[in-house]
Amino acid sequence: MLDKVVIANRGEIALRILRACRELGIRVVAIHSEADRDLKHVRLADESVCIGPAASNASYLNVPAIISAAEVCDAQAIHPGYGFLAENADFAERVEQSGFVFIGPRPETIRLMGDKISAIEAMKAAGVPTVPGSNGPLNEDTKRTLKLANQIGYPVIIKAAGGGGGRGMRVVHSEASLLTAISLTRAEAGAAFGNETLYMEKYLENPRHIEFQVLADEFGNAIHLGERDCSMQRRHQKVVEEAPAPGISDEQRRRVGERCAEACRQIGYRSAGTFEFLYEDGEFYFIEMNTRVQVEHPVTEMITSVDIIKEQLLIASGESLSYTQGDIQIRGHAIECRINAEDPKNFIPCPGDITQLHVPGGPGVRVETHLYNGYRVPPYYDSMIGKLITHGETRAVAIARMRTALSELVIDGIKTNIPLQVDIMADTNFQQGGMNIHYLEKKLGL
Ligand code: ADP
Repeated sequence: MLDKVVIANRGEIALRILRACRELGIRVVAIHSEADRDLKHVRLADESVCIGPAASNASYLNVPAIISAAEVCDAQAIHPGYGFLAENADFAERVEQSGFVFIGPRPETIRLMGDKISAIEAMKAAGVPTVPGSNGPLNEDTKRTLKLANQIGYPVIIKAAGGGGGRGMRVVHSEASLLTAISLTRAEAGAAFGNETLYMEKYLENPRHIEFQVLADEFGNAIHLGERDCSMQRRHQKVVEEAPAPGISDEQRRRVGERCAEACRQIGYRSAGTFEFLYEDGEFYFIEMNTRVQVEHPVTEMITSVDIIKEQLLIASGESLSYTQGDIQIRGHAIECRINAEDPKNFIPCPGDITQLHVPGGPGVRVETHLYNGYRVPPYYDSMIGKLITHGETRAVAIARMRTALSELVIDGIKTNIPLQVDIMADTNFQQGGMNIHYLEKKLGL
């Protein structure tokens, strides 16, 4: 078993990782920026190291500083959390070359899945359903490109192979605008990702976002933990997530989940990961893989009773998976509301001092937050300050519990999106379930 782990992250996920380490008797080193000395997990950690100024580039993205901290504290492993360096293959490689365990997949796997074209190829080879598309990069042959688009059928979407964060893509509705759209996206992709490679896919007009959670160990064992529906989005940012996805049958879950687990075996995947799909008219279409733990992992934990972070730590310790596929049972329904420090009307971030904090409780209520009374939310990082998760025997019970929990939650001193979450939970279409990825923006009149 690992005995000391560096948490290379901040906020709620750093606290979540600390708790999992504690349960396993692993000591924790918190690394933090100058602006984050008062973070809850920094105070709770066995050791802490300030690795640089507030700006992420100088601290949470500062690879040499993170590795030095691990060396100085004589740690064995580094957990990257999500965001920051979590999907940076070069970082994972540096961690391993410096003699530490990277708590995540192998660097070459991160690299393979980080290139969307090679990710799609790998998925196809494993029998995972993908979006009809160019099957590889677009080249200079415009005749071929025009023909491809006609075969796929308009609308199509042009995407950057190295894209991320919802950037580097463009929807094209007719042949007249195809070639211009390609040159614009190519220029943007080159500037933003240093990689001009593009590919083309069928643009699905009204899909839902459904993703499968997987776990895999060093020994070729891989399982799936079912799916989550993350269709409530604003600007490609998830706002509410739930598990299981409304209306997905056990048979669909088994079929697609098993393909994902098989893909893990074929690519030698290790640790936790997520296969993201668009879902339309009863069909799943793979779009990308996230090679890290995700913000929304708790909804899966609530319905499966599997502690995903603990499994990551055990896998990194060289243990085999604690579960077989047959052990995984889905019980009830879970919903997660992301709580952001932002104006609920215009979404402008709203950092500041927390003057009052009351967190909800009761059966089936879980709160993941690093906030405490008197904590100051710094302006330098992502505006997410916590997650409220509820679990119930049915989706209706989970929603009812969420409505009660939201009404109990008090965060004074800053503006938050709690009113927006109250609104979503009261929305009859949301309550019905199965809304597509455009629903929330339409509801908000965006
Ligand atoms: P990123 O890595 O930037 O998040 P993704 O490939 O995951 O890129 O796509 C982000 C979002 O873009 C999806 O959640 C979906 O809303 C939209 N999108 C991507 N591909 C398609 C497609 N083929 N059809 C319709 N929407 C798409």
